[in-house]
This record gives sequence, C-alpha cells and structure tokens, in this order.
Amino acid sequence: MHHLFSHIMVGAEQDIPNWILDEFGRLTLKSARAFFFDPGVSCGWDKFIWSSYILPSKTLVLWKVFHGRLPTDQHIQNKGLHIYSMCTLCEKHEEFIQHLFFECSNALRIWSWVRNIFPTYHFSNKDDFLSFIKSDGSLLVKLIKLVVITFSIWMIWRMRNYARFQDKTEVSRAILVIKDLTCLVGNSYKASMKNDMFDFNVLKFFVINTHTGKVLRPLPVRWEFPSSSWVKINIDGAARGYPSLATCGGIFRGSMGEFIGAFSTFFEVQTTLVADFYRVIHAMEEAQKMGLTNVYLECDSALTCVAFTARTNVP
Ligand SMILES: [Zn+2]
Repeated sequence: MHHLFSHIMVGAEQDIPNWILDEFGRLTLKSARAFFFDPGVSCGWDKFIWSSYILPSKTLVLWKVFHGRLPTDQHIQNKGLHIYSMCTLCEKHEEFIQHLFFECSNALRIWSWVRNIFPTYHFSNKDDFLSFIKSDGSLLVKLIKLVVITFSIWMIWRMRNYARFQDKTEVSRAILVIKDLTCLVGNSYKASMKNDMFDFNVLKFFVINTHTGKVLRPLPVRWEFPSSSWVKINIDGAARGYPSLATCGGIFRGSMGEFIGAFSTFFEVQTTLVADFYRVIHAMEEAQKMGLTNVYLECDSALTCVAFTARTNVP
C-alpha cells in the first residue's frame, strides 16, 4: 500500500469536489451516479411510452417510428441499396415512415377510427401522438390512449409486412384486433376511472369494466365569528416543493369579524411538515406580542392539529 501511495503526486492546491451537488448543496447517490454515468440527452418521451401493461415488442415499433429507424424502403435506400420503393398497402406512393403511418389511406382509416373516440385530436406526426398521450385524463384513460397509439402503429407495420410477404389485411379486421387488445389491457389495469362521461364513454367503447372512483361526501366549511372576547387567527402557507422554499401568513379577527392584525413570513428551505409547525408557532408568538390571551387558531393541516393535540411530542 505504501508503495502504491508513493507514486501518487499530491499537489499543494486545495481539493475541490468533482461532481455536482444537488440543488440543496447535498451529495446524493443520484448526483454521484450522474458523475460516473453520463445520463445523455433525454428526448423527453423515452420513459412514458413504455408500460408494463404493453408487450415491449409492440412498444419497440413505436420507438423505432419515433426515431425514424424502421426498415422501410426509404431507410434501406438511405443505406445505399438501390431498390424500388412502393407502399404495399396503397400501391400509390413511395414507402417512407411519414407516408406509411400518417398519410397512407390505410393509416388514415385507423386514425379516423381513433378520432371517433377522441374527436379533438389529429394525428399527422410524432408530436401529435405525444401531446395526445400526455393530455389530461385519469390514469386509466391515459393508459388506454398509449395502448391505442402503440397497437395502431404496431398494427400498421404488421399489415405492411403481411401485405409484402403474404397477403393483404382488411383495415376493418385490423381495427378489431386493436380494439380487442386495448380491451384486454384496459381490463387488466385496476385503476379507477374519473367519474365523468368522457371516461365512461371511452371505457364503454373498448368494453372495459368500469371501476368508479370514490364519491366524496361534500363537507360544508365556513368561517364563523369567534365568541365574545376571543380572537380568531386563520393561518395558511405554501411550499414550492418538498423540501423547498416556504412561506406562510395569518390574519387576526375579533368577535365581530373586525381586523386586528396580520403577518406574513418566509422560511428558508423546509419540508412541508416543518413549515406547518412553524406557522403555528409564529402565529402564537405574534398573538403573545399583541397581548392576546384568548385565541382560536384555524388552519387546513390535519397533521398539525394531531401533532399539537396528541400526547406524543411534536417531532
Ligand atoms: Zn400507402
């Protein structure tokens, strides 16, 4: 060991850390890993097109379409092979990805069928797919959107290969297969639907069993005047993340609702829980400064109420 160290030259300069700390100045496993393994540049959609509910062989076709890597005639020509190019599905156009998946009459019939269920969307390029998959909806409907796009793309490529090497497939039959596969995946997913007509119609169309979400009972909440000689303090706060910068404020009002005072304050980097406790402590300190003895404190954090009323110590 001594022999090993005798060959290492130690300079007089001060050591400096080589890897970048996280936004809060801490060394985490994530930041250390990023130093050793370059994560590369993310294309922004690499993670969410993969789902454990969809076979990777199906998603792989979508992945290749997005990257322009499917072995279409144009792709082979670009590699230097001089072959005759013709779309086997419509036999009217050269074969390249944009035509095969977005412009070919067969593809257009499939997208027209998808638009029967999702009428506000158009599918003319990769970005249209991505905004469709990312758009709002319950987790279940989001999965269905991803499944429909993935299976449609996969089916168009399958129809092309089948037509080229065996025989043509009827588009109506292809649509039935997409629908059946979507039904299969949708029924294996256990998340609840959103209780609205859109989700209901989508699930009904694909014959997916509906798991309705919990219907919450409305709870009336209103502000009430404090009793005579009492002061009510309403406090609230907000944090930008977890942990992150936090702030809070409060207002003091008397038994007739009259304004007595208010405060607002800013916390350094805190977790939401600590910020919740601080705002209560801060409100009580302000009340003490104002000489108030009979005060109600109202806030929206159930956890804070439990912490201050339970027998256990506040952490
Ligand atoms: Zn075509």
